[in-house]
Amino acid sequence: MMTRIEQDLEWDVIIVGGGATGLGTAIDSAARGYTTVLLEQDDFAKGTSSRSTKLVHGGVRYLKQGNVALVLEALRERGRLKKNAPHLVSDLPFIVPVYDWWEGPFYGIGLRVYDWMSGRLGLGDSENLSREETLARLPTIESDGLRGGVVYFDAQFDDARLALNMAQTAAGLGATVANYVRVIGMTKTNSVVRGVVCRDEETGRDIELRGKVVINATGVFSDSIRRMDDPDVRPVITPSQGVHIVLDQSFLPGNSAIMVPNTDDGRVLFAIPWHGTTVIGTTDTEVPFPSLEPKALEEEIDFLLTHAARYLTHDPIRSDVRSVFAGLRPLVSSGEDDTSAISREHTILISTSGLVTITGGKWTTYRVMAKDAVDQAAIAGGLEPTKSSTKKLKIHGWTDSPTDSYPLGVYGSDADGLNELISADPGLVEVIHPDLPYVKAQVVWAVREEMARTVEDVLSRRTRAILLYARASLECARSVAEIMQVELDQSEDWVDDQVATYSKIAAGYILS
Ligand SMILES: Cc1cc2nc3c(=O)[nH]c(=O)nc-3n(C[C@H](O)[C@H](O)[C@H](O)COP(=O)(O)OP(=O)(O)OC[C@H]3O[C@@H](n4cnc5c(N)ncnc54)[C@H](O)[C@@H]3O)c2cc1C
Repeated sequence: MMTRIEQDLEWDVIIVGGGATGLGTAIDSAARGYTTVLLEQDDFAKGTSSRSTKLVHGGVRYLKQGNVALVLEALRERGRLKKNAPHLVSDLPFIVPVYDWWEGPFYGIGLRVYDWMSGRLGLGDSENLSREETLARLPTIESDGLRGGVVYFDAQFDDARLALNMAQTAAGLGATVANYVRVIGMTKTNSVVRGVVCRDEETGRDIELRGKVVINATGVFSDSIRRMDDPDVRPVITPSQGVHIVLDQSFLPGNSAIMVPNTDDGRVLFAIPWHGTTVIGTTDTEVPFPSLEPKALEEEIDFLLTHAARYLTHDPIRSDVRSVFAGLRPLVSSGEDDTSAISREHTILISTSGLVTITGGKWTTYRVMAKDAVDQAAIAGGLEPTKSSTKKLKIHGWTDSPTDSYPLGVYGSDADGLNELISADPGLVEVIHPDLPYVKAQVVWAVREEMARTVEDVLSRRTRAILLYARASLECARSVAEIMQVELDQSEDWVDDQVATYSKIAAGYILS
């Protein structure tokens, strides 16, 4: 990828940012036949796109806000993503526990509207459950005062794995996608943006690329790129932090999630079974500036533990938390003070010099965001107009026989390649840590096939070790670095550096 970036200095479309939005945009642009390059300053999905609640959903809460168009669009995209990436997206029943007499009919009707809006792409019919039925599906739900529940259906996914498979999809369509290349400046001809200056973070070398149009897909960092175009531009992003805690599966055994529609501060709270753990979130805290490693605040952790305790028979305490992670929502500010009231609809801004910024939205709707961004970019850059062709485009790893078996199931059609690696070297079937489900072959595969460059790339996003059990991931960082050292032909010092860097990052996911 770097050779191509250094040699092909002229592109149709230059995309800045390798999260859901940028990667989706790269797919859309390359599928239309535009020469496309995507530059990501860190790793693919290092930002918000690996820190979501992992739901592919219409968004029941937006229905509550009356935002029918947004819900309809997201439900359509949910259905498409399930078809295009079946190895990564699976159905999940959600149960709203009912403690007050009015909640059953109230949520029951609302969720039937949600079913109806899903139409043909519906995943199952919602229904009211008796107390006994609710307890049978959620054996650890707080039974004191429980009257019953309402079950409805949405879907869940592995966010960082989807991002990687999207990078592979874009590459398969001819796009050049590079991680660890940071955009540091913008170039103009006659006051029109005509390219970027980027820095290869591994060598420190600066490279200038010319493009007919530049798309800024940097999420919470969007304003910093907009300032490269116009230093006086008015900022539009309000970063809002959402934190999740990860607990053992025993806190929520079974295959159903809990959805609490209204917490003390008016938020929705989820408890979700994910990759053999229980993920609980989230919060909504305005933060002053964006960061690639946002830190959970003590009050956010307390909020999640207190609310989890209200709905679970076994009250989780700090020592039960296997990992805590924070992500930043790239909300486009509307002048409102309360960030949870800002809509998640996406926004496209085109500067007078032609920089196209696409931001807001959500993971579930990345494909339509990408389509809209490329439509606008084609006009701004004077490209030959063509139509988006991603509605039915299969994502890398697509298979007609998806399996639930974790971890190999999430590789989809690539699982065969991993199995071949293991057949050639049976030692690679060993797990990287006794408390994690991952095998050494995944580390080798991540370097050879998935552009993993650092130990953190492997433990955070190629596998999800840091989320499933942060302490265990730290304990195996050295052995993972040693496998990578051989694959990347690196030195002993590289191993030490990697372990030191990873230790600092992982410390932010471990509760003391
Ligand atoms: C707590 C939380 C929970 C969520 N849950 C869900 C959910 O369950 N379902 C759902 O559909 N959505 C969910 N979302 C929303 C969804 O995660 C985001 O909308 C989406 O990930 C945003 O992707 P993005 O590509 O715009 O931003 P990002 O993923 O942040 O990507 C931007 C990228 O730009 C890169 N970048 C920045 N500056 C530069 C530069 N100078 N040069 C090169 N690269 C640069 C960054 O490194 C980053 O990787 C959630 C969000 C949060 C915060």
